[in-house]
Amino acid sequence: MAVRTGEPGSKGSGGISMLLVPGDAAGLSRSALKKMGWWCSDTAHLRLDNVRVPGRYLLGEEGGGFKMIMGNFNGERLSMSAMALGFAQACYDEALDWARQRKTFGAALVERQVIRHKLVDMQMRIASTQAWLDAVTARADAGEEKSGSADWIAQVCMLKNHATQTMQFCADQAVQILGGMGFMRGTKSERIYREVKVMMIGGGAEEIMKDLAARQLGL
Ligand SMILES: Cc1cc2nc3c(=O)[nH]c(=O)nc-3n(C[C@H](O)[C@H](O)[C@H](O)COP(=O)(O)OP(=O)(O)OC[C@H]3O[C@@H](n4cnc5c(N)ncnc54)[C@H](O)[C@@H]3O)c2cc1C
Repeated sequence: MAVRTGEPGSKGSGGISMLLVPGDAAGLSRSALKKMGWWCSDTAHLRLDNVRVPGRYLLGEEGGGFKMIMGNFNGERLSMSAMALGFAQACYDEALDWARQRKTFGAALVERQVIRHKLVDMQMRIASTQAWLDAVTARADAGEEKSGSADWIAQVCMLKNHATQTMQFCADQAVQILGGMGFMRGTKSERIYREVKVMMIGGGAEEIMKDLAARQLGL
């Protein structure tokens, strides 16, 4: 847990430390939260009532917790971009498969121009996300993640927004192509449609990503 260990009334990032708190610690209780998506991730409301842990449960340096959180963000945002791209591709694959199988008014959906255009619109976004992800990842491998270069951090922020928008667009188009089937539990696209918003909010919401990118770009 990130906890405030600074002087009473201390503000900002300086007084935050990382503490290991065992799940069965006396005074710690939790209740499950029901969510739109991410059902396999056990997000919960935690209540702490005079929970005490030994000083040796401190992770890293006292007061260094915020730095640890910040050090995790770029990698998290990069992996979320890759996840979003994978989800987008899964939507495309399912929609194409369906469009080839499903016949309406004597022809497969894929034979309709409007449906083919939707698939091309999805591919355009998937291809641009893939190319950008490859470029940003190559720069990370070349050392920019470690050095934390301002332009690279800006690229990660913008990429996360672009990739999650690609996922949102592809989930929406896939559900549309699947029609009523896209609204049914059991199709991938229906599930991915419900996973979109947390990808656009978690790990840094879109608006925050834009603000951070603007600062890193010196705007
Ligand atoms: C399922 C789930 C799992 C999560 N898991 C984790 C986790 O494991 N670890 C963790 O640390 N966090 C986790 N989070 C928290 C997540 O990172 C936050 O929900 C997210 O950063 C947004 O913060 P918030 O919910 O407080 O929204 P708020 O900060 O209240 O923001 C609400 C809206 O206002 C916008 N906004 C806020 N401030 C500004 C501003 N200054 N200017 C313009 N717009 C602004 C935001 O972009 C957003 O659109 C999880 C969230 C969810 C839903």
